[in-house]
Amino acid sequence: MSEDVHKRAERLIATSNVEGISAPDREWLNEHLESCGRCAQRAAALEQVVVTLRSVSIPPDPAVVEATRRRVRVRAAELHEQQVRLRALWMACAFSWGLGVLSAPLVWWALQWIGEHLALPTAVWTVAFLLWWTVPAAGAGGVLAWLRTRSPSGEYLRGLPR
Ligand SMILES: [Zn+2]
Repeated sequence: MSEDVHKRAERLIATSNVEGISAPDREWLNEHLESCGRCAQRAAALEQVVVTLRSVSIPPDPAVVEATRRRVRVRAAELHEQQVRLRALWMACAFSWGLGVLSAPLVWWALQWIGEHLALPTAVWTVAFLLWWTVPAAGAGGVLAWLRTRSPSGEYLRGLPR
């Protein structure tokens, strides 16, 4: 038997224990191991090493475990904070909208009264009423946009929809 044959067997034995080998290679190797005691011995020894390594459980490094726990806790706290901020924003929006709806008739009546007493055209105080509705929302949007440019990483606005 040439030396190359044993080298090939050695390489296939090593590969079969790590990533596996093709069926023809497996067949060739089995045939070789049946006829070659030296390679069969090597294969058995390597098999024993692999079995031993697989049965050894490696205890995790306590420092790594603690660092992972800490990271998970920090991330959980961040997510909780985001939820709280988001909930507060939605509540503020709902409150503002409700207040706007409730006060709309009063504002309409007040603007109408002012318009009549100052003899303003209806279009003027109607436009004023529309502005009363849109300017605060536009202002809030402007402030949010401004905060976002100040903090591109989203530091102030973490948790807000983008
Ligand atoms: Zn051999």
